[in-house]
Amino acid sequence: MSDERFHDLFGGEPSVRGSAAGRVNLIGEHTDYNGGFVLPTAIPQRTSVWLAPRGDRAVRIASAEIDQGAVRAYTLGSERREGNWTDYVQGVTRFLAEEGHRFGGFDAFIASTVPIGSGLSSSAALEVSILNALIAAFGLALDPPTIARIGRRAENEHVGARTGVMDQMAACLADAGTALFLDTRDLSYERVPLPPGAELVVINSGVSHDHSQGDYNARWAECEAACQLLGVAELRDIAIEDLAHVEALPEPLNRRARHVVTENDRVPRAVAAMKANDLAALGSLFDASHASMRDDYVVSVPAVDLLVDIARADADVFGARLTGGGFGGSIVALVRRGAAKAVAERVTRAYASRSGLTPTILVPPR
Ligand code: ADP
Ligand code: MG
Repeated sequence: MSDERFHDLFGGEPSVRGSAAGRVNLIGEHTDYNGGFVLPTAIPQRTSVWLAPRGDRAVRIASAEIDQGAVRAYTLGSERREGNWTDYVQGVTRFLAEEGHRFGGFDAFIASTVPIGSGLSSSAALEVSILNALIAAFGLALDPPTIARIGRRAENEHVGARTGVMDQMAACLADAGTALFLDTRDLSYERVPLPPGAELVVINSGVSHDHSQGDYNARWAECEAACQLLGVAELRDIAIEDLAHVEALPEPLNRRARHVVTENDRVPRAVAAMKANDLAALGSLFDASHASMRDDYVVSVPAVDLLVDIARADADVFGARLTGGGFGGSIVALVRRGAAKAVAERVTRAYASRSGLTPTILVPPR
C-alpha cells in the first residue's frame, strides 16, 4: 500500500523502511529537561518511513498525515527553518551531517498512526523513524543515545522546542511490555515489567496542544531561573528532603520547582510499586502527579482535568493523569486487568457528553 504511494509520488520503489513507536509516559513529567527520571512505555501506534537514496543532494519528502501528502523538497547542506513539519526532518539531516555521518539525498514517504500533538510523541517517532531509515539506507553506525541526541537537537536547535531527551530515548528503546525507567542525566535505564494486575488505558482528550511551544519554553525558563536562585545546575540536584529551599523561592518559581522535585521523587516510588504489583500505591502516584501538574506546574486544561476526574471516579481505575507535556493531549489511567476496554468506553462516553469534545481511545487499540 505505502510502496504504491511511494511509487506514485516519486517513481521507483523504496529500498528501506524505518519505523518508531509513539510512547505514553507513565510518570515523570517535565523532569527530563531537569536531569530527572522518567518512565515511558511504547504504544501500539507507530510512524513508518519508506525511503530510497537518490544519488544527489536533494531530499523529497511527503507525509500522509499532513498537506494531503504533498511533496516538499530541500537540499542537504542548505537546511533551514521553514516553520512547517519538514523542520523535524531538516533538523535531523542537519545534525546528522554536523556530527560527521556521511549520507546522500533521498526520497521518503511517511505514514503514521501516532496522533499528532496529543502528548504521545509523534515528533520523536518522526525523527527516530527517519534516522532508522537513513541508518538502513546508508549503512550508518549510530547507537540509541546518538540517535536520541540527534533527534533532540533537531527539536531543540532547529524546530526551537525546548524539550528533554525522554521522547527520543523512548522512540529508540521502549517496548510495550515494559516501562523504560530512564535517568535522563546519564541515560542509564532499566526495563521494568508492567504490573501483572493492571492494564493501561490511554485516551486522547480531543484538545490538541498545537500552539503550546511558547508555554513549554516558558516552563523551561522558569526552571532555569529557579536553579539560578537555588545555586544548582539542575533541579535534579534538589532532593525531596530539601523541599524547604524550594518553598522559599518567589511565586511562581516555588510551585514550578516543587512540581519537578516531587515528581522526580515519585518516579522511583512508582517503579517500586510496579515491582511489588502494588496497584493502589501506583494509582495514588498517578493521581498525585496529575494534581502537581495541574496546580503547581499549571500545564493542564479544564477538559483534561474533567477527563482525569471521570476516569478516577470509575471503580476499576486505580489512578489517572495527564500524560506528556500538557496544554491538552492525552491521559493515561491504570486499570484493573481485564477491564481496560470497558473502562475506556465508559469514560469516553461520559466525557464526550459532558465536554462536547471528541475523545479517541488509543490504548487498548481497537
Ligand atoms: P507530539 O506530542 O505529538 O510530539 P509535537 O508538537 O511535539 O507533538 O510534534 C508535532 C509535530 O511533529 C507536528 O505538528 C508535525 O510538525 C510533526 N509531525 C509529527 N508526526 C508527523 C507525521 N507523521 N508527518 C509529518 N509531520 C509530523
Ligand atoms: Mg513532541
